Amino acid sequence: MTEHDTKNIATRNIMLHYPKRLADKPIISTLIKKYDIIVNITRARIDQDEEGTLVIEISGLKKNIDAGLAYLDDLGITFKPVSKVIKRIDERCTHCSACIVVCPTKALAVRDRESMVVDFIEDRCIGCGLCIPACPYTAMEMSE
Ligand code: SF4
Ligand code: SF4
Repeated sequence: MTEHDTKNIATRNIMLHYPKRLADKPIISTLIKKYDIIVNITRARIDQDEEGTLVIEISGLKKNIDAGLAYLDDLGITFKPVSKVIKRIDERCTHCSACIVVCPTKALAVRDRESMVVDFIEDRCIGCGLCIPACPYTAMEMSE
C-alpha cells in the first residue's frame, strides 16, 4: 500500500438493517471480496421475523467504502453511523420504562415485576441511539 493510499484509509462504524428477503445474501463477504473492505462485526441480531440488525466496523480505502455503502444502498439495506458507546447516567434514571419499547436488542429491560427496575445490559447494546430521544429524563447518552 502506498503512502497516498494510507492517507485515504477510513474507518466507520455503522448499524445496518436488512430485511428477510436478503437474509441469505452474502452481503458481508461481498463487502470484503468485491470492495476490499475489512469488516469487523461488532453486534449481530436476528429478529423473530428474520429481519437482521448488524453493527459493523468497516475500514478500507475511502473510495472502496463509498462504493461498498452504495452497494448496500442499492440492495435496499438501510444503515446509519453509530458511535461506539452508549451510557446511562444512573442518577437520572427513574426506571420509568419508556425506553424499553424502542430498544431493539432488549439491552434495556425490566429486571422483574416485583422491583420494576430497568436494567441497562451493556453487552446487548448495539449503539443504535434510539433510547436517547425516548428517555424523558435524558438518562441515555452517546459518547465516542
Ligand atoms: S426512559 Fe430513561 S428514565 Fe426511563 S427507564 Fe429508560 S433510561 Fe431510565
Ligand atoms: S442504544 Fe439504546 S435502544 Fe439502542 S440497543 Fe443500546 S440501549 Fe437499546
